[in-house]
Amino acid sequence: MMPTVKFDVSLVTNKVKADLRKNVEQLEDIPKKHIREIYDAALAMIESGGNMPLLYNMLLKVDGMTKGRAREITITLGNKAHALTEQERRVRLGITHAIWMYSNAPCMVNPKHPTDADHKQDAAHQAANGKQFEVGKGFLINGVWTLPGRDMGCKCNSRTVVPWI
Ligand SMILES: [Zn+2]
Repeated sequence: MMPTVKFDVSLVTNKVKADLRKNVEQLEDIPKKHIREIYDAALAMIESGGNMPLLYNMLLKVDGMTKGRAREITITLGNKAHALTEQERRVRLGITHAIWMYSNAPCMVNPKHPTDADHKQDAAHQAANGKQFEVGKGFLINGVWTLPGRDMGCKCNSRTVVPWI
């Protein structure tokens, strides 16, 4: 998730917020009492256009939180939200298609100890590289519609197909 100089806060729609809320609630290792403050910090990060310390530093205050896990949560929540705000931005601009770009880093949660599911996801994301998809719909990967950066451990990005050139 690259910080942008001028981020349009209106891209953080109710859909993005609801998705963020769900993603925070799904963090199994976070005590319930911290859900609200983590959500607030994550939202502040997203509305700032990707100021990651806003969330990372807050996570470090949670009991038992390691730097590695705080980093992982920050990147995951940021990437998932970025995929949706980028989709929203493109739809508003009338951009209908984008090209999936694999980053050459494995799309796995833990590349040092990948599971079969990790290998399957990574192979599918590699195969998606360079392929065009509908911005509003996403890309069908292993039977599920997704966007670059949406799947756990995904480091993919995408490039806009500019319709007027
Ligand atoms: Zn990926």
